[in-house]
Amino acid sequence: MAIEFGQEMEERIVASTLTENDSGEVSLRPSFLNEYVGQERSKDNLKIFIEAARMRHEPLDHVLLYGPPGLGKTTLAGVIANEMGVNIRVTSGPAIEKTGDLAALLTTLNDNDVLFIDEIHRLSRAVEEILYPAMEDFALDIMIGKGPSARSVRLDLRRFTLIGATTRSGQLSSPLRDRFGVQLKLDMYTIDELTRIVMRSASLLGIEAEKAGAVEIASRSRGTPRIANRLLKRVRDYAQVRGQGIITKEIADMALSALDIDQLGLDHTDRRMMESIIRNFGGGPVGLDTLAATIGEESITLEDVYEPYLMQIGFLSRTPRGRCVTQRAYEHLGIPFIGQMELK
Ligand code: ADP
Repeated sequence: MAIEFGQEMEERIVASTLTENDSGEVSLRPSFLNEYVGQERSKDNLKIFIEAARMRHEPLDHVLLYGPPGLGKTTLAGVIANEMGVNIRVTSGPAIEKTGDLAALLTTLNDNDVLFIDEIHRLSRAVEEILYPAMEDFALDIMIGKGPSARSVRLDLRRFTLIGATTRSGQLSSPLRDRFGVQLKLDMYTIDELTRIVMRSASLLGIEAEKAGAVEIASRSRGTPRIANRLLKRVRDYAQVRGQGIITKEIADMALSALDIDQLGLDHTDRRMMESIIRNFGGGPVGLDTLAATIGEESITLEDVYEPYLMQIGFLSRTPRGRCVTQRAYEHLGIPFIGQMELK
């Protein structure tokens, strides 16, 4: 299984990408749709597609899942395979280096199995090209020999379901995107949904948590289940050392404040990014690359990991000329708002 660790600073507790702190995450993963919290619209659609495919004894149509890291794409792929009663093979775009790697994977699949490719936007062009006939006709076109004597041989595959996950559907080539019959966008979770996830995880981990404590963790989890589970574990440590082992609102608040995570789940990196836009660029607009260079982060990390939540809570807006910090963010940061700088 090829899951990459987050590229960003590992100490960042509100990172939405997978970090070393998330060992044991697998045990918290829901296995079936009825345990998978939230994403109601996607679940309702999936239930129908799954039932219909099962009635026809056919594989489910290929599914593309997109949304920021940590929202449950990998989990949902596993849930789909379980609901279909089939096996799942898990890999990722960067792990499939050669066309032969993909061919090897495809030829081991059984009827109706699921092949899950995380970060599918990072597949190479050559690999992508052999995926097309595999998705469409369940066939592999293999070149045998080289030069003038080379010929193409068609190899039949079992009928399978490809589930692709991406944080950026815009980066997927349109021929690839068009071959997914089902395309689902995962949304950030509400505080209520995250509270349910925290309560569920607490009970799986044998942690006693009061509802108000779970709400406190949920409201600081940036709409992301992975972060909610991670914060739960850190708050548990606090509860054990400073409290009676029970997660109350006070303990959660104390623990998260000590970790420098504010009421909205923002940490020093979010604040540094917004303050940089305000102090260096008059609140914006500023281009993504310029901003990334100024605060020493990768543009891609800013775009995938930091921005989605800041935009969701209305602190950052994307304009054609760049990123702008909103008045609400100024208020949250305690910086007087004097209006956005107008670039001539
Ligand atoms: P992604 O693939 O989108 O980065 P994951 O599927 O790895 O995210 O989810 C991260 C963790 O969050 C999982 O281990 C799981 O415990 C939890 N999780 C995600 N979505 C849900 C959900 N809908 N209900 C409960 N827990 C969830």
